[in-house]
Amino acid sequence: MEGQTGPMRVLVTGGSGLVGRAIERVVKEEGGAREGEEWIFLSSKDADLTNASETKAVFEKHRPTHVLHLAAMVGGLFRNLRENYDFLRKNLAINDNVLHTAHEFNVVKVVSCLSTCIFPDNTTYPIDETMVHRGPPHSSNFGYAYAKRMLDVYNRAYFEQHGRLYTSIIPTNVFGPHDNFNIEDGHVLPALIHKAHIAKRNGTALEVWGSGRALRQFIYSLDLARLCLWVLREYDEVEPIMLSVGEEEEISIKDVVDIIVKASEFTGPVIYDASKSDGQLKKTASNAKLRRYRPDFSFTPFHKAIKETCDWFEANYDSARK
Ligand code: NAP
Ligand code: GDP
Repeated sequence: MEGQTGPMRVLVTGGSGLVGRAIERVVKEEGGAREGEEWIFLSSKDADLTNASETKAVFEKHRPTHVLHLAAMVGGLFRNLRENYDFLRKNLAINDNVLHTAHEFNVVKVVSCLSTCIFPDNTTYPIDETMVHRGPPHSSNFGYAYAKRMLDVYNRAYFEQHGRLYTSIIPTNVFGPHDNFNIEDGHVLPALIHKAHIAKRNGTALEVWGSGRALRQFIYSLDLARLCLWVLREYDEVEPIMLSVGEEEEISIKDVVDIIVKASEFTGPVIYDASKSDGQLKKTASNAKLRRYRPDFSFTPFHKAIKETCDWFEANYDSARK
């Protein structure tokens, strides 16, 4: 692999999304950037990354040394259930274009994003980094899952054939400011925060989809952003690394609902529509590898992060994605 001299020029694909905006905040407001570095945050308006020539043009324009590859078609359980084909095709195209163009432009390091929801459905727990390909994913999101798994396959192939240090991170469910709060398409936390807002305003019930029994681990987007910067600077394995809170932080959707109800000061009735899907009942992830590297990293307490997210949504209601 060719070395890199001088400060990094980092291209962040998906820079306008939930994770991208958190990285932007850490870089610009928490002193995350170092002297001389340049950070470029892309949205789909700068380049449609499903399109090879637009991808090439944006790399030509910025000539990055490093890429944080976050761009993807992303959605909650219910959008995945409806659009498996699009999730597969768009994400395969985005990933092929970004990784191939990064290689062509001699980018030194690429960090791409997998997810804990792409792991085998039939598995032992906790899941860890070695288990990504050990069986078919859950049927609800197989399009997204296979497209994401291919990122790891690309990384191994680029390393074997070209000595590239292209790697990946595996976050659990992410949430925070700038999330997609759309009720039909969003992930559980932003969808429920939005639903609680409407129920409070209209004096109606808060409707939760599924039984509430499913378990999840959540990571606050700002914690994830801090860890992404560390991975970009310090982590030098091709194998993925799980970015997750501990197994003891796993929480049921029912308990999440109770926390959102409190944080948004909703006092009306809560109903569960158990005819709707629970998705994967759990996907308990081990953060042992992360803890070996970063034993002291401190995650924002869940209640505090939820409160900040609810407050952000209320303060930015008009402009929030919904
Ligand atoms: P998000 O808020 O939906 O943002 C998606 C980003 O990708 C946006 O910046 C969007 O640009 C961009 N994008 C989508 N299609 C594109 C295209 N065709 N060309 C160029 N850009 C495109 O998603 P997120 O939650 O931040 O997700 C970031 C990464 O984390 C993704 O790789 C996702 O798979 C992964 N991840 C997310 C979660 C989660 O719970 N959210 C969990 C695990 C892993 P526009 O703003 O212009 O549309
Ligand atoms: P997942 O973690 O990849 O399955 O995606 P989500 O973030 O969409 O979480 C889905 C879990 O939350 C399932 O157990 C759903 O039954 C539950 N859930 C409860 N209410 C909602 C809701 O309003 N929207 C979504 N997306 N999920 C909900």
